[in-house]
Amino acid sequence: MPTFHLVSLGCAKNLVDSEVMLGLLQEGGWEMVADPEQANVLLVNTCGFIQPAVEEAIEVILEMETYKKIDSSKFLVVTGCLVQRYKASLEDELKEVDLFIGTEGVAKIVQLLDCLVEGAEQEKTQLPDRFLMDASYARTLSTPFFRSSVKITEGCNNRCTYCMIPSIRGELRSRGIDDIVLELQRLEKDGVQELSLIAQDLTAYGNDLDKETHLLTLLTRILAQTAIPWIRLMYLYPSGVGDDLLALMQSEDRILPYMDIPFQHVSAAVLKRMHRRYGYADLLQFIEKVRGAVPDIALRSTMMVGFPGETEGDVRQLEEFLREYRLDHVGVFSYTNEEGALSEFYENQVPEELKEERRNRILTLQAEISEQILQKYVGRTIPVLVEGLSRETDLLLEGRSVYQAPDIDGCVLINDGNANPGDIVQVQITEAQIYDLLGGIV
Ligand code: SF4
Repeated sequence: MPTFHLVSLGCAKNLVDSEVMLGLLQEGGWEMVADPEQANVLLVNTCGFIQPAVEEAIEVILEMETYKKIDSSKFLVVTGCLVQRYKASLEDELKEVDLFIGTEGVAKIVQLLDCLVEGAEQEKTQLPDRFLMDASYARTLSTPFFRSSVKITEGCNNRCTYCMIPSIRGELRSRGIDDIVLELQRLEKDGVQELSLIAQDLTAYGNDLDKETHLLTLLTRILAQTAIPWIRLMYLYPSGVGDDLLALMQSEDRILPYMDIPFQHVSAAVLKRMHRRYGYADLLQFIEKVRGAVPDIALRSTMMVGFPGETEGDVRQLEEFLREYRLDHVGVFSYTNEEGALSEFYENQVPEELKEERRNRILTLQAEISEQILQKYVGRTIPVLVEGLSRETDLLLEGRSVYQAPDIDGCVLINDGNANPGDIVQVQITEAQIYDLLGGIV
């Protein structure tokens, strides 16, 4: 049985591609090995939408090269966004790599790797046409059995000026509702308790399909045809969230009181240059509308500092906004000037050290706000999905509340009571830290 070792980089959407490749290869008679030394094929599924991700991908590829240098019978294969972005130009840069496969090559992974190890003739860079996964593809979860993400679309039709994703992942392609429900029913049978719906822009779901196909009809079908207790909405676009979605969130406990909704900034001038379809006033209205409809909701957002032309005034406006509107979770990134992005040649590029200073300022402010916000849970009993033993000590269990998404938000440390991974328990919160909560099972 040929063996492979897979390293998956980047976002949750790329992880789904890795899990499909994992499932297809295992179905195709390949064995996944945890130790790269034991692998015939070293497979790196890359991210490549910003320079730091490109650098990380190259670092990992060079690390995998060292195994091939020790044992020249091994093959090194690179897939994903780095390949889709830079295509055959990588062949000269990374000579030790035997095969490059673009993002759309997921479905062909078995045939391409079989050809490689059999020594059959094939192009070194493979860029198949557009691919959209569906429930018929084998998929092996790399997350704990009780939680998973389902990618409901591929690509994006928005044209944010800093973003390379549309040029890497292509136009928006939505999966059909029947197909998504089929995959969810399979995941439910496998024990999934928490299901995160993901996309580049979740609110754009179905825009490329018929009028009846959109996020609301999808959620209504999921609620009717599965019993998955926790459904989490990730990557929403602010101006795409309508009253009907909020009404459904208010009336359906299984759709968690949580939204991951990247704002990117709040300054109207910066948002305009980013080609985001909303301004400062729209964001204020949006937050009031959301908190009015779902008072207990936790809002996660992403902010980007250092966009060309960003002034000290814009950053101060962002600070004032965060102090006043107190978002539960905020990720802060520095703008990177990407070759090929619409903003590449924008004037007034912000110096790197100033970007870093601004990013640290916002992160420090948000840490203070997060610690204050978490106080509101002390004394409350909230539902928590148990992940298992704490990463800090075996004396504590660790889980996440409905207000905390996997891998990006804080957790709940459980110091009293017992439960198994995947159990949803009620925890009375006794203490709040900067990002984490502490309490006992009731
Ligand atoms: S919504 Fe904007 S930032 Fe997000 S993937 Fe699409 S173009 Fe990129």
